[in-house]
Amino acid sequence: MQALLDEILDAVRPLIGQGQVAQYIPALAEVNPCQLGIAALSVEGELFTAGDAYTPFSIQSISKVFSLVQAIQHQGEAIWQRLGHEPSGQAFNSMAQLEYEQGRPRNPFINAGALVVCDINHSRYAAPTLSMRDFVRRLTGNTQLMCDEKVAESEYQHRARNAAMAYLMQSFGNFENDVESVLRSYFHHCALAASCVDLARGFSFLAHQGVCLHSHERILSLRQTQQVNAIMATSGLYDEAGNFAYRVGLPGKSGVGGGIVAIVPGRFSLCVWSPELNHSGNSLVGMAVLEQLSERIGWSVFAPA
Ligand code: GLN
Repeated sequence: MQALLDEILDAVRPLIGQGQVAQYIPALAEVNPCQLGIAALSVEGELFTAGDAYTPFSIQSISKVFSLVQAIQHQGEAIWQRLGHEPSGQAFNSMAQLEYEQGRPRNPFINAGALVVCDINHSRYAAPTLSMRDFVRRLTGNTQLMCDEKVAESEYQHRARNAAMAYLMQSFGNFENDVESVLRSYFHHCALAASCVDLARGFSFLAHQGVCLHSHERILSLRQTQQVNAIMATSGLYDEAGNFAYRVGLPGKSGVGGGIVAIVPGRFSLCVWSPELNHSGNSLVGMAVLEQLSERIGWSVFAPA
């Protein structure tokens, strides 16, 4: 495994330069595009790393999985009264479906859906931003894990589109809390800084029957774990979820910081990071790494044998 990770990172490095780092806020536009890392954690607890696996980056939309898990822990099936679990086939920040579907987002992994999930969590926690940070610290085992306040503030300053979605949902009666406070926590969740190793550890429960590998804490039931993996497989990469299923064949979740988390149920949790994005806002090199790895090991959940 170690040799394979090193070999694949060497093989994909020439692709750096073909994508573009996220441009919508200066704090992300300034990130060095040449960084590349991967961490793979087996359910037996063996950790393999290559490249910049210990460098923290902005987790962005990967936080949407943590938020969804918190909401499921709190409300279970009831959350689906507020949003769906269907793929959107649209960009992560698209508003197109939101109006004609009367303010009910298609799934928790597009921005509109994540904002509703954040609103659900707001109704539960007195300090939603801190509770999320502490939840992620517990899952990753990294007690130093921090939010990058510069990124959070910059996202808030550039919030027009996310704010428009949240206010539209409020106008349809699908928002319970103060929109501006929910936006602030949403951006704080996106601005958490974590490394590939942190995230491979933080998502071990999705590979390990709902139980966090290092703390032994049950995070979700078996059935809920399977359901979150299913939503990641169908919606985790937005309008590129089909391409990801085709090329990689694993539940996955990307973020515009360039991270992609992938789950091999019963075997591994992985995170790859390379900041340059493709046209869908997914890590261009990260996709190539996961494709090669999955193909070489035969990890696709769609494999016939
Ligand atoms: N903070 C980003 C946004 O809300 C997250 C998007 C993403 O990672 N796809 O636009």
